[in-house]
Amino acid sequence: MKTARPTAKPTPRPIRSAVLLAIGSELTVGETRDTNSGELARFLAEAGVDVAWISALPDRLETVTAALANALATADAVITTGGLGPTPDDLTREAIAQVCREEPAVDAHLATWLRHLFERRDIPFPETNLKQAWLIKSSTAIPNDRGTAPGWWVDRPDGRVIVALPGPPSEMRPMWQGWVLPKLEKRGFGQERITRTFRLTGIGESAVADRLGEKLLRAPNPIVATYARADAVDVRVSAVPEPRRSAASILAKAEAAVLAAVGDHVWGHDDDTWSSVLGRELVEKGWDAALVEVGTGGSATRLLGEATWLKASRSIATDDPGAELPLAGLARQAGRSAGAWIGLAVRAVEVGDDTRVELSAVGPWGVSEASQTAFLGGSEGRRRAGIAAAAFLHDILMTALAARLSSTAPPTGRQ
Ligand code: ATP
Repeated sequence: MKTARPTAKPTPRPIRSAVLLAIGSELTVGETRDTNSGELARFLAEAGVDVAWISALPDRLETVTAALANALATADAVITTGGLGPTPDDLTREAIAQVCREEPAVDAHLATWLRHLFERRDIPFPETNLKQAWLIKSSTAIPNDRGTAPGWWVDRPDGRVIVALPGPPSEMRPMWQGWVLPKLEKRGFGQERITRTFRLTGIGESAVADRLGEKLLRAPNPIVATYARADAVDVRVSAVPEPRRSAASILAKAEAAVLAAVGDHVWGHDDDTWSSVLGRELVEKGWDAALVEVGTGGSATRLLGEATWLKASRSIATDDPGAELPLAGLARQAGRSAGAWIGLAVRAVEVGDDTRVELSAVGPWGVSEASQTAFLGGSEGRRRAGIAAAAFLHDILMTALAARLSSTAPPTGRQ
């Protein structure tokens, strides 16, 4: 398929900010979920492009035109998905043409390509489909190898860009990756952005926000944000350079502030998982572990996954024989039967609306025990009990006692 059409040379403008518009009434009535914008936003954010906002819009010309005009007043690039079909309610092209004050016209190359697609399948060509061969003077067609809707790349006279891509992700994705992204990169795309994530446990997201304070959380650079994940509360710090300060120095200052506020709860960084962090500590000490869970539904085992250092894991219900044994006994038994350095046991018992979590670990240093109340009962309480078990093992590995033991030769006898 032939693309291009000569355009007036606009002032080159690097792309530092973008707005994403997902177009289609099926999105605004909740029939289709807008996954396109999330996918594109991830690409843009990773490249250091600031996504100013994302909107889902109905198939209404005035709404789409107004959103485009609004977006063009702020962002270097406006990227739309959807509304490139052949029917009258597919009106992304009309809206772009209106904003650019240009008239769409059928492009001969695109029309030939489109007719050929129908001929190949032996289907009569509906003249309404000619709409998909439209271009405006300032647009270039973005080839679509998987459908009949070419995209539009539109250069604005002030150097901004509008990119219109079709709605189906299977068409949008390769057009973005194979055509749009390389073109954006060529013109100067994004900026250096460095990020650091702190992974926290034993503290809720709102308490983290309280400790960090509004000043840190509302600053535009660095951006400090909290996220409640399944296995941790994350604090993500990301910085871009400023005229007299490097991104690294801006990040370092914010990192120090985050650590001063919540450093006592940090167990990992960036892509760390409980399994990888515990694995690092255990491998360094030349240890491994075995786990027994009571009443947790196996949540600790699920959290730790297929860790090589976890020699065995067993999950039993609270009414199973042996479940009522002292926890240290269960931990010792687990360690012994698997031939592991550490035997770890966790028991979850619902008490009222919450869950009591009991923990025990038996290892070369002796026995460690702890208990705590996890917020909520049921599956949420059991999930939290799994995290408590991982955090407990982490605490043990970090204690001075463990450090002292690991600095000497590995213990000579298994417990
Ligand atoms: P085509 O003519 O190839 O269908 P189009 O640009 O007209 O392209 P739409 O009609 O708007 O696309 O949407 C077609 C399909 O694409 C939708 O039915 C939906 O399955 C999917 N889709 C549209 N927008 C999105 C979106 N934002 N996120 C995920 N899927 C989407």
